[in-house]
Amino acid sequence: MTARDAHRREAPLCLALVVPCYNEEAVLGETIARLCAVMSRLHADGKIRDDSRIYFVDDGSRDRTWALIDEACRAQTWVAGIKLARNHGHQHALLAGLFTARGDAAISLDADLQDDVNAIFEMVDRYLDGADIVYGVRRRRDMDSVFKRSSARGFYRIMRALGVRLINDHADYRLLSRRALEALKAFREVNLFLRGIIPLLGFPTATVYYDRGERHAGESKYPLRRMLSFAFDGVTSFSNFPLRMITALGFTVFVFALACSVWILYVALLTDRAVPGWASTALPMYLLGGIQLLCLGVMGEYIGKLYSEVKARPRFIIETVIDTGQPAIAHRD
Ligand code: UDP
Ligand code: MG
Repeated sequence: MTARDAHRREAPLCLALVVPCYNEEAVLGETIARLCAVMSRLHADGKIRDDSRIYFVDDGSRDRTWALIDEACRAQTWVAGIKLARNHGHQHALLAGLFTARGDAAISLDADLQDDVNAIFEMVDRYLDGADIVYGVRRRRDMDSVFKRSSARGFYRIMRALGVRLINDHADYRLLSRRALEALKAFREVNLFLRGIIPLLGFPTATVYYDRGERHAGESKYPLRRMLSFAFDGVTSFSNFPLRMITALGFTVFVFALACSVWILYVALLTDRAVPGWASTALPMYLLGGIQLLCLGVMGEYIGKLYSEVKARPRFIIETVIDTGQPAIAHRD
């Protein structure tokens, strides 16, 4: 179903922008200024109501991020702040913001101004056209390093081969309508890979293309280690294919071993060529040892996932919410 099949909505809407921030003091001042300007223009155009908000989610920063948000909440009516009790990671900070935000629709974007804020206008228009989910998709990737580009391409290819629906070159810059947000709440997994979940929601969708710039200031909070673990979560939260592959591998090895035993028995019992050799002892030992370790590793990965899902710990804990018009409250997911 596309936005064209959907019904138009009436402006103005109550819009929420959700911006996760982790140690972003270097860029936050500029981000606040630019997003407030976007909100003021949307308001002047009659697109959004004046109770719309920009929710800055402080994901347990250790620098002046919260002080800046706190200050902005007092100075700017558009700004609201959510402070998490500790660092929960980008995806969970995003959820905390999306689930706390009031409004008819929420747009999530990064704090470092890499996501072109001008795409917000078009996202709002697509929402008014009737889309429940509007994906922000990067027009080009040539700003990225060769490594990031090729690893991203490989990742999308693997995910597609595993049957996971992902929107190419779409990160977490997107608009979600109120009913899409409510549907998202029903997905209770702790290992959350939002960009894999959102296409599962259904609803009318639309796409907005934008150019992704350089990080405005500060440095990336996604070093290689975190990127790899994020990609790994993506694969194992959506597919049992690695488990099935192990079964197939085990079966192949079993058939091979069976054929070998027949041959060995034949050589040992029916011929006089039987010289018990080192190779026939050591080779299967290494081979099987390796395969078993590999299998244990992959199974351990899934058991670890089960373990954290079964515990069902809260995905985020909110310490404070500052939102004029709403008393400061403390609650948890
Ligand atoms: N972020 C967060 N918690 C974390 C790491 C990152 O809220 O533990 C935020 C960060 O402040 C930024 C967004 O997630 O707004 C994306 O992070 P970053 O720009 O560092 O990632 P990159 O663009 O380099 O992939
Ligand atoms: Mg960034």
